[in-house]
Amino acid sequence: MAVDSATSSPLGPPACEKDSKALQFIEEMTKNCDSVQENVLSEILAQNAGTEYLQQWCLNGATDRKTFKSKVPVITYEDLQPYIQRIANGDRSPILSSHPISEFLTSSGTSAGERKLMPTIAAEMDRRQKLYSLLMPVMNLYVPGLDKGKGLYFLFIKAEAKTPSGLVARPVLTSYYKSQQFKTRPFDPYNVYTSPNETILCVDAFQSMYSQMLCGLVYREEVLRCGAVFASGLVRAIKFLQLNWSQLALDIESGELSSKITDPAIRECISKILKPMPELAMFIREECCEGNWEGIITRIWPNTKYLDVIVTGAMAQYIPILDYYSGNLPQTCTMYASSECYFGLNLTPMVKPSEVSYTIMPNMGYFEFIPHDPSNPVTISRDSPPHLLDLADLELGKEYELVISTYSGLCRYRVGDILQVKGFHNSAPQFKFIRRKNVLLSIESDKTDETELQTAVENASELLKEFNTTVVEYTSYGDTKTIPGHYVIYWELLMKDPTFRPTDEVLDQCCLAMEESLNSVYRQSRVADNSIGPLEIRVVQNGTFEELMDYAISRGASINQYKVPRCISFTPIKELLDSRVISVHFSPTTPHWTAERRF
Ligand code: AMP
Repeated sequence: MAVDSATSSPLGPPACEKDSKALQFIEEMTKNCDSVQENVLSEILAQNAGTEYLQQWCLNGATDRKTFKSKVPVITYEDLQPYIQRIANGDRSPILSSHPISEFLTSSGTSAGERKLMPTIAAEMDRRQKLYSLLMPVMNLYVPGLDKGKGLYFLFIKAEAKTPSGLVARPVLTSYYKSQQFKTRPFDPYNVYTSPNETILCVDAFQSMYSQMLCGLVYREEVLRCGAVFASGLVRAIKFLQLNWSQLALDIESGELSSKITDPAIRECISKILKPMPELAMFIREECCEGNWEGIITRIWPNTKYLDVIVTGAMAQYIPILDYYSGNLPQTCTMYASSECYFGLNLTPMVKPSEVSYTIMPNMGYFEFIPHDPSNPVTISRDSPPHLLDLADLELGKEYELVISTYSGLCRYRVGDILQVKGFHNSAPQFKFIRRKNVLLSIESDKTDETELQTAVENASELLKEFNTTVVEYTSYGDTKTIPGHYVIYWELLMKDPTFRPTDEVLDQCCLAMEESLNSVYRQSRVADNSIGPLEIRVVQNGTFEELMDYAISRGASINQYKVPRCISFTPIKELLDSRVISVHFSPTTPHWTAERRF
């Protein structure tokens, strides 16, 4: 029941007293965006004044924006790497942060093929928790009754590594799910999950998914919302159901958990939930046995009101398949966050994916913006800090690149995200996520750039040398029609001696060689998570790329400036390439990946 109008918020009537406080907090933050930002920067600079990093810029204790902007350079990960390396190697002096670095968060953005390491401090967990605590109060404004059932969320942890000095390095969500804040969260009727903690906290992707799906099926009538962090995760869960429904039904019929699930903590907690339920088993068989997956989400979980998944940015490619699986249920994107910093939330979560905008919460860090206009790029040099804009300076409709300073010690760090101002809530801009810079291919959290793809092609084409063959042109696209999705690379080959062509086996090995060259996030998705399928090379007839150029020129491209696009998405171009394919090759096995990483 909504609380009385005295506590009502401009965002809408809160569902309960706790929500009222959360909505009030959002109002305060967004009304006082600029002064909150000023305070945040001042706190960060005061807290970290004694760090080696800030000392070198001679702020002399100043904590104001003007001094900060005039003295501290705007940087990328490569600039930070020497400091990060020293922390990883065990230097515990205050290098970036005056608070001890509690762990490294490993970003899905990579540097030299490895996940970037983002230092974090213990207090940051509370800040993240605070942002999470705002999500349901906003959702409750739009969807009533979410306290009357459960959320089926497929949540996963990933393997951890240790730095030479013993600091843990793991993805931010693994860190969060393993935290006391998550594991011992107080009961909240609006936030009850079908997945027990034990099923989330198992690093084996199969066992974790199996047990979470099993619980989702057992509680199917109570499920009010289905989700995963990213859309790709929910698509993968449905694919898992397609492959494993028969065994799941068997377990539910017998009340006995499959022997494939060996994790003792999972077995223990499932034993309290699973009992013989023959009618439910029969229902699952009836729904799944014909292989019709249209509307499967609403058939199995009939009370689902919305899908809670990020479908903005690279995830937009999964909107059609989720529409198909769910009979067009609303897809809500609630949050915008990264390993470096959690940024903000969507204050109108029920809008269409194409209209989603995120409101950055000014208490999360200090945010600056580089105007992003490809026809008039801003030059960023370390020696003369450019004038960046503040949250309060941004203009409607314009695009900006995000730069952050955090309590954990990042100072004027370029995240790489391009955002566009779509509106304002009070004085806080609301941003559409436009794209991540330099990402060519992405199936789930992997981010492959043009240089990585080029290197992968070069490495793979080494195998063609003995056949006197070279790759003369190539392009690519991320195929998400297959589940899991996979990279498709088109190759045009020049064979000096057509009677001595590379064999199919060699071209298959080229697929693998490309995968071996790709970054560790890609390889982890292939090996540990099975969330990316084998890489495919499609060899096209000679002359195909010339046709591609002719096509582009016929559509207005300049002949002098024409460059082969290294990634394609336009359907007619894909069709043209596909119509010229002469052979198709897949990676015969998975590439090399281990949880151990280079530091
Ligand atoms: P990571 O560093 O692996 O935590 O990835 C963070 C990045 O994921 C962000 O910088 C964005 O590029 C992307 N991302 C996070 N949240 C969203 C969102 N809601 N919509 C689109 N992209 C997002």
